[in-house]
Amino acid sequence: MSSKMLRKALSRIDSMPERELKRLMALQVAETDMLESLLENGKVGHCVLSDQVIRYVNTPFCTLLPTNRLYLGRAEGRRLDELITDDEVLDYVSGLTLDRAEGEKEFYFQVGSEVRTILMASRRLTTQEGDYVDLAVRDISEEKRSEARLRRSESLASMTTMAAGIAHEIKNPLAAMQIHLQLLKKAFTKKGSLTGEEAERYIDVLDEEIGRLNGIAVDFLFAVRPMNVSLKKQRIEPLIQSLEDFIRPELEEAGIRLTVKVEPFLPQLMLDPNYMRQALLNIIKNAENAMEGGGRLVIDVHGSGDFVQIAISDTGCGMDREHLAKIFEPYFTTKATGTGLGLTVVYKIIKEHGGDISVTSEVGEGTTFTLSLPVPSDERMVLAEGGVDGDNLDS
Ligand code: ADP
Ligand code: MG
Repeated sequence: MSSKMLRKALSRIDSMPERELKRLMALQVAETDMLESLLENGKVGHCVLSDQVIRYVNTPFCTLLPTNRLYLGRAEGRRLDELITDDEVLDYVSGLTLDRAEGEKEFYFQVGSEVRTILMASRRLTTQEGDYVDLAVRDISEEKRSEARLRRSESLASMTTMAAGIAHEIKNPLAAMQIHLQLLKKAFTKKGSLTGEEAERYIDVLDEEIGRLNGIAVDFLFAVRPMNVSLKKQRIEPLIQSLEDFIRPELEEAGIRLTVKVEPFLPQLMLDPNYMRQALLNIIKNAENAMEGGGRLVIDVHGSGDFVQIAISDTGCGMDREHLAKIFEPYFTTKATGTGLGLTVVYKIIKEHGGDISVTSEVGEGTTFTLSLPVPSDERMVLAEGGVDGDNLDS
């Protein structure tokens, strides 16, 4: 029977025949029994307080929290600190008032050799007779444990993926090195001695493969290590120049024409040149991979508003939207020997520089990566005075 119906019956109780009154009481007893049994045998402990005095408490509440056995089953009307023996719980509950009843807190108790985690959720309970604070407690030890298990298995899974990635990547260069060492040995035994020129082709391969192994190690370390960038105000031109000198021979060999354009009078930027170089190299490497049969690579450095932008465009295979959406995800790769970490690292580095990165791509046409690096405020005038972009003079 609902409390609304009961209240209605109560309003005419004086004129109620005794038989009906008894029937009503019996119904009510049965219902109270049922509710009590629900509350007593459930897993949630409840304690209803009025000014720290217990109005109602069930058995689960007393078994989940450290309690004074003396008052078990007859705690109603007593203060909570007579029933509960744990200071931390009492401390927390004493801070709860009707106006600030809402809250949640986890408590840890040693039970035998086990640690139990008990979650206490409190709220304001509004009834016709008045408002109370309701404390609901439940044992969440098992949930906690499976959460921890899940976390562990997740990190284990990513470690496995990564280890598999490393192993896969390392295998090819090692195999190539082994083959060329054997060829070198054979050539030696056959001839007794080799000229530098004869040895060169083997040594070149070894050199190249060692470079590749080093690249793999660098990529992985960059991806997993916390980044430790140290930003210093400096010009970006020397970095671009040394990068150009470094990549030009390799690109030319791959049939890729390189154009580098740097706008004059660029402001200085907050840079960690080692990290920035790594970021640019990763993008250039990808561009090179995308232009199998050769092509054109343009690096364009220019000012744009409060930013200096570095745009790197290739005339490679390009990507569709779906492909584009995934490229910064760790381990996403479309290459047989890719790590899928290159762009993850780029993203991390650019973010550490307070910058941003955007990509446009057309399948079959090519791709442009644009890095935007913020100009420090004391350098912004330089951009406005020197920039080709006349708008900056006004803004
Ligand atoms: P990896 O180079 O090891 O595959 P990256 O994180 O560097 O890992 O790149 C992820 C993927 O993004 C590449 O496998 C490739 O599919 C795509 N990608 C990146 N740069 C380009 C580009 N310039 N042109 C076409 N696809 C690219
Ligand atoms: Mg890459």
